[in-house]
Amino acid sequence: MPFSKILKVSDPVSPTTAIIGGGLAGLALASLLAQRGHSVTVYEADRLGGKLRRIDVGGLSFDTGPSLFTFPGVWHRVLARLKEGSDLLDLRPLPGGLGLHHTPFGSVPLPVPPGHALYADWLRVCAAAAPVAPHVETLLTTPPRFTSPAFLRASAALARATGPHLTAEGWIRARRVHPGLAHALRTHALNAGLPPADAPALYALLPALIAGHVCRPAGGMGVLLDSLRGFCVARGVQFRGAVRRLDAASVTLTLDGGEVARHDLLVSAIDPARLAALRGLPVHSPLPRRTVSGVAVYAAFAQTVPLPATSIIPPTDFATFRAAMRAGAFPPDTLALVHADGPRLAVLLTAPATARPLKLDHPWVRAQLARVEEMLNVPGLLASASAVSVLDPAHYAQGGHPGGAIYSLGSPVWRGGPLHPQPYRLSPRLWQVGTGVHPGGGIPAILGGALIVDELLAGSSF
Ligand SMILES: Cc1cc2nc3c(=O)[nH]c(=O)nc-3n(C[C@H](O)[C@H](O)[C@H](O)COP(=O)(O)OP(=O)(O)OC[C@H]3O[C@@H](n4cnc5c(N)ncnc54)[C@H](O)[C@@H]3O)c2cc1C
Repeated sequence: MPFSKILKVSDPVSPTTAIIGGGLAGLALASLLAQRGHSVTVYEADRLGGKLRRIDVGGLSFDTGPSLFTFPGVWHRVLARLKEGSDLLDLRPLPGGLGLHHTPFGSVPLPVPPGHALYADWLRVCAAAAPVAPHVETLLTTPPRFTSPAFLRASAALARATGPHLTAEGWIRARRVHPGLAHALRTHALNAGLPPADAPALYALLPALIAGHVCRPAGGMGVLLDSLRGFCVARGVQFRGAVRRLDAASVTLTLDGGEVARHDLLVSAIDPARLAALRGLPVHSPLPRRTVSGVAVYAAFAQTVPLPATSIIPPTDFATFRAAMRAGAFPPDTLALVHADGPRLAVLLTAPATARPLKLDHPWVRAQLARVEEMLNVPGLLASASAVSVLDPAHYAQGGHPGGAIYSLGSPVWRGGPLHPQPYRLSPRLWQVGTGVHPGGGIPAILGGALIVDELLAGSSF
């Protein structure tokens, strides 16, 4: 090992910390640790932002990846810990909340408005979820320790709200609501990356907890990336390229050209299977169940797209959908999320995490897009786009999780949600953060995870 090329030497006053992965999790933690006085370097193999990146389609800028911002209180906690007085995000409620769900039993808006035939059923769902509402932020931002009173209180509230039901499917059935509303609730269990029969019960409560508070930065989701990058730059965070090997014992990274960088502390913000490969550890094969992947279609139009902000077309039958996802096969009809924003249209099709390229000419993609157009009554819409770009499981697999799984591995239900399946500290000087630790949580969970790791690191000797 050419240690003559070591880049950094440890400094006990200002620990040198390497963060491997410059996605939202890596950038959030980098800014928090830099705020604490660490000398931080973020190593990013591709583009900062990971799954959130800007692409140009037909001269229009699109923010890819996440499109819904939920639990904004977690973001406000990040700002508070960074002592940032102003907030570039300027979060705005999304018109229509979680959108119109085109279920086989009729259309269901979430939240269900007063006067709607399903309003009484919706109120019952909200009442059943209510005990957990004041505690979700705590669950997202507090180290999951049974010695923590805040975590215990929040877990007890969650246990009260979920009752004896382990899975989202069990909780929804017990509500005995109209099949259309039940179908819409099942759809959101997929926020765990897993079908409702495999997702923890907490995910069935999500629509009631978030439907009235879904938002997006006024300037688009890309502003979140701009903000986090800006916080890092302002605090002196350095940026470097890909890590090719990692040795936790000597706290060293090997970079391109054999260059070796030594730090006091390493934090992985990449998928656990990728990390294992970097460490030369066996990656279990076959891998346990993965969460879903997706085909994201971004289309630019000459005029405003005549659709509401968010439309959701669920699978017709969740049992068939689940069987297909488990087998890595194409479901006959999949979940489609459609976002329309002026002349921009995004259609996100849920696909099995096979790492396969899936372009517009693939028969399954063609059939799913035709179904979307039929359900939304906009035949030939995509054909009239001025430009279209597609991100598929092969794309998501490049820098992310195996097969392009959006939320890493699927955990058993009793280890999902707040009972995080992966430890934060893997060895004395190697920690981890990001979707590998918080599957199924999206932005709130990975920002909350960064707050948790920051807090744990502040109280630890490493
Ligand atoms: C289509 C889609 C829709 C989504 N919708 C939502 C939504 O509406 N709301 C929501 O909250 N969440 C949503 N999510 C989830 C959200 O985008 C993710 O939870 C979040 O972006 C994950 O961030 P991360 O930093 O953990 O991982 P990533 O974004 O995967 O970042 C990991 C980074 O590590 C880098 N890397 C990998 N290997 C190396 C290496 N060897 N050396 C250096 N760098 C390396 C990668 O290049 C990548 O940049 C969506 C995701 C997708 C894909």
